[in-house]
Amino acid sequence: MTHSYDAPVSQTLFDRAAVVTPGGVNSPVRAFGAVGGTPRFMVSGTGPYLTDADGREYVDLVCSWGPMILGHSHPQVVRAVQDAVAHGLSFGTPGAGEVELAEEIVARIEPVEQVRLVSSGTEATMSAIRLARGFTGRPKVIKFAGCYHGHVDALLAAAGSGVATFGLPDTPGVTGAQAGDTIVLPYNDIEAVRAAFAAHEGQIACVITEASAGNMGVVPPLPGFNQGLKDLCSANGALYISDEVMTGFRVSKAGWYGIDGVRPDLMTFGKVMGGGFPAAAFGGRADVMAHLAPAGPVYQAGTLSGNPVATAAGVTQLRLLDDAAYEKVDAVSAELRGLVSEALSKEGVAHRVQVAGNMFSVFFSDVDVTDYEKAKAQESFRFTPFFHSMLSQGVYLPPSAFESWFVSTAHDARAVERIAAALPAAARAAAEATA
Ligand code: PLP
Repeated sequence: MTHSYDAPVSQTLFDRAAVVTPGGVNSPVRAFGAVGGTPRFMVSGTGPYLTDADGREYVDLVCSWGPMILGHSHPQVVRAVQDAVAHGLSFGTPGAGEVELAEEIVARIEPVEQVRLVSSGTEATMSAIRLARGFTGRPKVIKFAGCYHGHVDALLAAAGSGVATFGLPDTPGVTGAQAGDTIVLPYNDIEAVRAAFAAHEGQIACVITEASAGNMGVVPPLPGFNQGLKDLCSANGALYISDEVMTGFRVSKAGWYGIDGVRPDLMTFGKVMGGGFPAAAFGGRADVMAHLAPAGPVYQAGTLSGNPVATAAGVTQLRLLDDAAYEKVDAVSAELRGLVSEALSKEGVAHRVQVAGNMFSVFFSDVDVTDYEKAKAQESFRFTPFFHSMLSQGVYLPPSAFESWFVSTAHDARAVERIAAALPAAARAAAEATA
């Protein structure tokens, strides 16, 4: 277990933060609630490394929860941001950067004919389900347990990510009316979806699913699951919304769509497309998007939507993500998965390293994890000592057993060596852990 004397400056900042900010953080998982100890307050990032306020360097396997796929402070992204900043910070008018980013997204992802820019993944999914309801004139939304789509009221039922980390069944503040039209089903259970369509005939506006679930740990769709969702939606006049906030532009040039080819009606994006800035989007069929204001009646807006600095970062990052970049990220991911599994196997720790493209996570489980129930059944008590051992050896993992690990093009041989060197002791700590 880590102690405050491991990170005195971070601890002091955390103490100050706790006075002025609930729980001392601005997004719950950052508080280390599941693993205990002092959250590290980072002061800089370069390539695969982060440096904390105490001057300690870490190999970063969080990558800002996905966006930093080129590593931290990529020189060309930084330069693009500096150029944009020199021209002004926000205009509240249309700008060329928005057109370029939208064109880049439309060019990469064939089902996206039109796209609307927003500032967070939460806004993207919230707006997409509003549009689906406006387009279909129907109230109900199907989502899957363990899938996280941001903190949208209607989608916080049985959500993953921080909601899973803290074991929250639901959240106070979401009324029955707000969640009453949400139908929560087990992930990867296509028969449950079929039954829900039969039970609520003519009522279901859309099915929203993570293209490949990454917020209960990495749980890819079983073969045919996404296609089954699409087919059921098409047969029942509902829209299929693929949430690619996490997978989009990360697992391939065209995200998860580039891997499974199942054609959504609407898609949501965030993280990588903002290059580290608050930029996100939703898009899809032009006939559906035409219902959005000002072209149509479904209202949606944002003061900072399409911000010129954010779009400059996003466009530059996307243009740098060519085939070679994805090959590099995939290769680093494969190498790390092998190293993690080898270290845990050596210590006799039951585990599954689950993968979706270059995203992966470790389940302390002796069965393949295909849904939220199985994810929750893992021996997550083993994760805490594993995490702290890695942290004390300078490797920064997501502080939860229910999150994906992320790598970047900047994770070079030196970074991988440092992770490899830390793994044996961490695996031993996991082996020795008791419930
Ligand atoms: N959808 C998915 C699949 C996500 O992973 C996330 C965030 O982790 C979101 C939506 C929400 O995005 P944001 O945190 O930018 O609001």
